[in-house]
Amino acid sequence: MKFEPITALSPNMTAIGGDLIGGDPLALVGARCKACENFSFPPRAFCPACFSADKLERRPLRGEGTVFTFTVVRQAPAGHAVPYVLAFVDLHEGVRIMAQVRAEPEAVHIGMKVRAAFYIRTTDASSMAIYAFEPAPASMGAS
Ligand SMILES: [Zn+2]
Repeated sequence: MKFEPITALSPNMTAIGGDLIGGDPLALVGARCKACENFSFPPRAFCPACFSADKLERRPLRGEGTVFTFTVVRQAPAGHAVPYVLAFVDLHEGVRIMAQVRAEPEAVHIGMKVRAAFYIRTTDASSMAIYAFEPAPASMGAS
């Protein structure tokens, strides 16, 4: 398996979930509820906060977040390099998502600031544009 950083999708790339990432600049694409301003990722058919079904609009997310908790995966199916870090990340928009943090396990800690990063993941069988998180630059402010 190979991970190559990308900054844009090209027409021949398949995005994870079909359309969970996109735009220019490349971003996680969630949904914002126009009725209550709740964000969801992945986008849902209805708002999980107020249950509105017709008030959702697709919106890019900032991709900035904080590690809520994490684990270090040391055993994985063939073809997956270990160890790797799997974390729950609390995004700026109030959404908690599970994703890989691409950093040395010893460098990851609860409360760590991270940002979304985008890759092409290539295996013998397929190639897909995916998201993960990486340590945020020290200058990235939390707001
Ligand atoms: Zn809502």
